[in-house]
Amino acid sequence: MYRPRVVISRCINIEPVRYNGGIVNDHFAKKLGEFVEYVDICPEVDTGMPVPRPSVILAKVEDRIRMIEPLSRTDYTEKIEEYSVNTLNSIREVDGFLLKSKSPSCGVGDTKLYKDDLKHQVGKTNGIFADYCKKIYPYIPVEDEGRVHDEWIRRDFLTRIFTYTSLRHTIKNLSSIRDLIKFHQNNKYLLMLYSPYGQKKLGQLLANWEKVGLENIKEEYKSMFYKSLSKRPTLKSHVNVVLHIYGHFSDLLKPAEKRHIHNLIDKTLGNRVNLNTLIEYIRGFVYRFDDEYLMNQTYLNPYPAELQ
Ligand code: SF4
Repeated sequence: MYRPRVVISRCINIEPVRYNGGIVNDHFAKKLGEFVEYVDICPEVDTGMPVPRPSVILAKVEDRIRMIEPLSRTDYTEKIEEYSVNTLNSIREVDGFLLKSKSPSCGVGDTKLYKDDLKHQVGKTNGIFADYCKKIYPYIPVEDEGRVHDEWIRRDFLTRIFTYTSLRHTIKNLSSIRDLIKFHQNNKYLLMLYSPYGQKKLGQLLANWEKVGLENIKEEYKSMFYKSLSKRPTLKSHVNVVLHIYGHFSDLLKPAEKRHIHNLIDKTLGNRVNLNTLIEYIRGFVYRFDDEYLMNQTYLNPYPAELQ
């Protein structure tokens, strides 16, 4: 498996650069570090702010979100914005962002937003750097270390960063359309999970590749693929994919095994059995029947099992 390139907030496990001189010890980010290449950033320290430093907040001033240090009223907005744009445009390849929650620079949707009196909270928003990550890389997952504790967010984040890196390398080393067709075949059920429409459109693009040409198809396929994976799938779409995979070998099963699978599916839909249990059970049959086509399906192994 290729190592995804993930931009990470430097205060997560890497260096004590928080405003109070602290560091965040995060077990998931540490484990993930064994499988990805981290590119660390700290918008505040990289723009010259010291450690420790007075904390900054985000405030809505005349319809614009500004980063202000309340005691001295120093405004850091332009500096952080300029840093964000320059840094993000200079990162050549990126598969995901893992940022620090609640921070005025890095928070993903949960940073406190204050009124222009700098005292009263009016809501929550993205940190300035995180906001630019979303604007400049709209189809790349941007998460924080708090949100990935949620099983569904983590599953989606991991699936996408490992799939995107695989696509990046496939395209980089592409010498024949056959490589891209193979990639597409291996991701058939993953695409079905995220977007049956995207799966169909990508298939049509590949079928007519000669009209577009090998060079042009790379960017077109990549951008359509990214868009196809941009909406997080539901439990129902997972079960739909499991049923399709099950269809490959259902005729070979004993009645009791079939009953057991249907029972497991009902329990999964009723949230009485974890989805991982169902997928693990289905995977067992794929190995038993030695089905190479299914064994290559990324849906069944989207990322290293150690990260489950
Ligand atoms: S949250 Fe972001 S800006 Fe704040 S210390 Fe961590 S990396 Fe630096």
